[in-house]
Amino acid sequence: MKKDTRKTPELPRFAVLQLSGCAGCEVSLLNASEWVERFNLVYMPLVVTAYNVPEVDVLLISGGVRNDEDLYNLRRAVKSAKKVIAVGTCAISGGVANLGNRDEVRKLFMAQSERRHLPRLLPKSQPVDAFVEVDCYLPGCPPTPELFMAALLNPPDFKTSKVVCQECGRKKLKDMRPKHLLGFQQGKVLPDICLINQGYLCLGTSTRGGCRALCTRPGHPCVGCRGPSDMLIEKDSQAWLQSIQRVFEAMTDIPPEELREALLSPQLALFLFQFSDYAGGDRPPRPKEKVL
Ligand code: SF4
Ligand code: SF4
Repeated sequence: MKKDTRKTPELPRFAVLQLSGCAGCEVSLLNASEWVERFNLVYMPLVVTAYNVPEVDVLLISGGVRNDEDLYNLRRAVKSAKKVIAVGTCAISGGVANLGNRDEVRKLFMAQSERRHLPRLLPKSQPVDAFVEVDCYLPGCPPTPELFMAALLNPPDFKTSKVVCQECGRKKLKDMRPKHLLGFQQGKVLPDICLINQGYLCLGTSTRGGCRALCTRPGHPCVGCRGPSDMLIEKDSQAWLQSIQRVFEAMTDIPPEELREALLSPQLALFLFQFSDYAGGDRPPRPKEKVL
């Protein structure tokens, strides 16, 4: 039999560099399946080991820059990548690793004089674009498998909704004004009615869409993991805070101090306002065209 000498076209190569984070992004990526036939995954410590990140067409970076090892690996990896995508809250705006920036936690860590064999902590956690150029941002904690596919395959017709509310389907009512916030774990959630009307701290009005309102449709308030919407992403984090406050003023009778305290609580600090520099300060705004 004649030997088939046709060459199989080479698949684009991609790698996943994991910095300080929780590996939730990697799990979500593994829950997507379309890329398996269309990409060649060459590096991802969770499933594919290699000494270094080899040359790749696309480099996904998850996790924040928390220690000197993160920084070393990041700088080295981007040199061999044609396209760099920052994925997940940790790489873009903080996430779990960034909780260590809170004063009380930082003191605890920095007080340890004996940290042998461990990477040296940087004074504070930083997003990857504080050190390297990023071509595309994919926010979410974690981004859904569908969003991962959109980031990798870049389909021309893919478009996310502007804010989570557009994907949620719950109705906002004028005559249902709560006087206080309910805790996340409290109460029975009425179907079809906006969670703000029911006294929950839902941030869907100003959070960028694309997750298909994964949390709010079954009744969990949106905590803003997809980050600020296009309207707000090029502004500083105060603008995001004020936008949420205005919504609650318009829809509820919750005292502003109660709302502000809840917005700055550690639970939400995981996602919101972690860097006072979504834009402003010493960091240029992230262009909305680059954010998926
Ligand atoms: S529940 Fe949240 S996401 Fe849904 S409509 Fe209300 S504010 Fe928007
Ligand atoms: S509803 Fe909000 S918290 Fe939930 S996945 Fe979407 S953006 Fe993230």
